[in-house]
Amino acid sequence: MYPFTYIQANTTREALTSGRSGGRYIAGGTTLVDLMRETVERPETLVDISGLPLRELTVTKGGGLRIGALVTMSDAASHPKVRSLFPVVSEALELSASAQLRNMATIGGNLMQRTRCTYFRDVTADCNKREPKSGCAAREGVNRTHAILGTSESCVATHPSDVAVAFAALEAQVHLLGPEGERTVPFADFLLRPGSTPHREQALKRGELITAVELPRLPRPLESGYLKVRDRQSYEFALTSAAVALHVSGGVIREAKVAAGGVGTVPWKLPAVERALLGKRPSNRLWAEAAAAAAEGARPLKHNRFKVELLQRTVERQLRTVGGSQ
Ligand code: SF4
Repeated sequence: MYPFTYIQANTTREALTSGRSGGRYIAGGTTLVDLMRETVERPETLVDISGLPLRELTVTKGGGLRIGALVTMSDAASHPKVRSLFPVVSEALELSASAQLRNMATIGGNLMQRTRCTYFRDVTADCNKREPKSGCAAREGVNRTHAILGTSESCVATHPSDVAVAFAALEAQVHLLGPEGERTVPFADFLLRPGSTPHREQALKRGELITAVELPRLPRPLESGYLKVRDRQSYEFALTSAAVALHVSGGVIREAKVAAGGVGTVPWKLPAVERALLGKRPSNRLWAEAAAAAAEGARPLKHNRFKVELLQRTVERQLRTVGGSQ
């Protein structure tokens, strides 16, 4: 590990001052410390924000939920309001990482975590995300777990988060605070596709902090859930996943929120699937027809062609689980 300066921020103002000077924020540290040990990340200054007052989880006036950036994954997953209003979020969190990591890792940190592409973590490999313009070893390398959607010539790494897939499906908002004040960014604009700059992963300005993630009010009743398909049933990242939320009224689907994980360079919203569901009556046939659109635009690599069909099957199964087998 390289030497670094450690600063404990006691107030938001202290944190922002250090952040503006180039300090890296750290809270649970479950990703960043690993990457520093492997010398993938070499921050000169760490700004510990774990003492800031960002641990509240509240129901908003509009009936949505606001989850403070420093709420731990385990606290968010077990919170009664999350369980009752957005089970898809609880399930996504509980299927992530390990219990020990979920006790440390925060919601804000989850959105800042880096990819699990093995070449990114191997400092001897070419990787545009770690070292801009150095190349991408995964393109012609072992790319079974890589992305099939949202890729570029520069990078084909998947985004590793599960809960971010639920946030994408629900169309969350990300609240930010920086030296220039507060702002709110739609979740769809917060995580960036790689394009020609894969080292830029979030739409954050210098010194900005995530303060909260807000889930919108959605019509009730709302059924929702998360399915994760992986090589082993514990402590593993998704090969494919699906976050689904459905509002059915009068026997017809009035709201459909669907996103996929494990397949995109960012959590992958599926508007074509949502459109195929809206205004229709739930049926097994509808689930299959809608899920067929899940892989639209996919560009599989040499070793991950299986993800196209697996994605469609994952979405179909989760639509049937949430919407009912009929
Ligand atoms: Fe690096 Fe992205 Fe290529 Fe992986 S896929 S080696 S993260 S550029």
